[in-house]
Amino acid sequence: MIQSSINKIVISRGKEPYENTLEVLSHFDFSFLKGKKVLLKPNAGRIASYEKGITTHPEVIAGAIDFFRKFGVIAAVGESPISGVNTMEAFDITGIAKIAKERNCPLFDMDADKPIIKEIPNAKVLKSIKLCKKVSEFDFIVSIPVIKTHMHTGVTLSIKNMKGCLWARSKVLLHMFPEIAGFEDKPIDVAIADMSTILKPDFALIDGTICMEGMGPSAGTAKPMNMVIAGFNPFKTDAVACHIMGIDPEKVPHLKLGAQFNRTTLGLEGTEIIPSDWEKYIIQFALPPKDLVLEYPNITVFDKNSCSACQSSLYLFLKQYGTSILEYCQDGKLNIAIGKGHKTLPDNTLCIGNCTSSHKSKCPYIQGCPPVSSEILSLITGSRKFDIKDGTPE
Ligand code: SF4
Repeated sequence: MIQSSINKIVISRGKEPYENTLEVLSHFDFSFLKGKKVLLKPNAGRIASYEKGITTHPEVIAGAIDFFRKFGVIAAVGESPISGVNTMEAFDITGIAKIAKERNCPLFDMDADKPIIKEIPNAKVLKSIKLCKKVSEFDFIVSIPVIKTHMHTGVTLSIKNMKGCLWARSKVLLHMFPEIAGFEDKPIDVAIADMSTILKPDFALIDGTICMEGMGPSAGTAKPMNMVIAGFNPFKTDAVACHIMGIDPEKVPHLKLGAQFNRTTLGLEGTEIIPSDWEKYIIQFALPPKDLVLEYPNITVFDKNSCSACQSSLYLFLKQYGTSILEYCQDGKLNIAIGKGHKTLPDNTLCIGNCTSSHKSKCPYIQGCPPVSSEILSLITGSRKFDIKDGTPE
């Protein structure tokens, strides 16, 4: 690698996403990758168009494929999406399948092979990971996330995007750890930081074409920024993206801990940032609300170790229907449970998602990982029959 590239972060704003991508990449020398296999890892983990600010813009991927190929690399795109999402369908809906086909670039469902178990030496909580086997076949990984706020982890950028290299449902385990002695930070943040010690990108190419603010990673508001950010140091590149979002990276626990565990920092002194007046791009992003149900005093949510997919489903459901659902509930009140590990729940708590299935003999239960909001509504309004014995919607 050319030494002058290491401490450089480049931002391009205001062009089309393909041009922004070529512009930032043109500042780096990748000639050392000639003949090597390069994995382009987008955020294509959900069935959603880039227009919603949920998934990576396909033209950023197109720019990356075209640019890296100029250096004689063998490029491919791979993803392991969230539970319940078909990878190839996600590639289709995100538009990535189309641009890859036009370029004859391979697309991989990284869940297709059995995983490789990788131990994490000196891990604080995540002792090992199930890594998608395909990932280990590449020489160089480019993480290509979308700039988004995240209800659990503050932001999701190039470090967090690597969670999509963990095999199938094994990524859910990162949400399931109990509190860790000696850490004020949430177990999910410590787990991501642990993961980053053995699984981090070699290069960060951050798509800020259409970002997401508020209730990210999937229920927030799209925020067009027409921007791409790139750099070899993923922690510092994520830190620049945080600053642009108006967020102090030192207050994003998985980045703070990840940098610490990797013996680097989030500080930008000594880093060349192009353009030098990049701070003009800073725009405060709306942060995710701390409490899902502040606006709904008669709805109580019991949340234990849930992941963002169930939280997003529930949030979208509450945003859409709000208190209008209370007319279907006894006493005009509703208890809802999501996540795993609830020992006891009040009678008639609405249990949402497979993680709550241990309560299905006593409580109304809706299966899914996560269930969609129309199914939650059907159960509450009774338009779908519900058998209290096994709790499974018919
Ligand atoms: S049921 Fe919900 S909380 Fe549990 S793993 Fe699935 S999406 Fe996450």
